[in-house]
Amino acid sequence: MLYFRELCRAGGGAIDACEMTRALLRGEDAVGYCCVRPSGHHAEPDRAMGFCLFDNVAVAAAMAIEDLGLKRVMVLDWDVHHGNGTAEIFRRRDDVLFFSIHQSPLYPGSGAATDLGSGPGEGYTVNLPVPPGSGEEIWLSLVEHIVVPIAESFGPELILISAGFDGHREDLLAGCNLEASSFAQMTCHVRDLARRLGVPLGAVQEGGYHLGSLVESLLATMAALGGEGKARGAAAAEALTPRAAATVAPYWPL
Ligand SMILES: [Zn+2]
Repeated sequence: MLYFRELCRAGGGAIDACEMTRALLRGEDAVGYCCVRPSGHHAEPDRAMGFCLFDNVAVAAAMAIEDLGLKRVMVLDWDVHHGNGTAEIFRRRDDVLFFSIHQSPLYPGSGAATDLGSGPGEGYTVNLPVPPGSGEEIWLSLVEHIVVPIAESFGPELILISAGFDGHREDLLAGCNLEASSFAQMTCHVRDLARRLGVPLGAVQEGGYHLGSLVESLLATMAALGGEGKARGAAAAEALTPRAAATVAPYWPL
């Protein structure tokens, strides 16, 4: 049974994500964090799924385009599960560039590297699955060598992060080995990207089910958003990174 209160809370999360986005685009701040529950990235256009009722980050991205007139928005989803809802919502669109780094195999089972979107949106969905046990070097390598250069080619006017922290090694919903500092490092790379492009950056809370590591990761991410820390380079020789580069090569210069 879906309680009305939960539905209101979920709707409020989407509204909060929009309010944060509006404030960023008014120039009130360069970065923002939207701390909402329930998470949103599994919700598809016509159904709730995987704890998610409304896709908060997708509502914010669509609002930025339809209400505020943006032409290009980028979403990076680093929750450990594939952001299937966001991917479906923008599957056929070329005005939202969607990246998802996620463990595979894992719920919901979608997000193969070969799924690059469809129709006019082909190439604008970039799925970056990683095997169980993947740690900071792999995730950072994908952010630094795949996400950042593609984003620079795309030229987004707004960057949104679907910030899930269930890739933390203490989170039992998956088997990745990230630390709080790993999320801070990914944030540093995206923060520096946003600065180079001169565009606002907003993060929207997704999953994270081990409360201690969730809080630690969230605080580390917010500190990096606020300017703390320096992005470090990751080894480009990681086997997954060249494979991912080859998959997107028909669409993006890398
Ligand atoms: Zn998740």
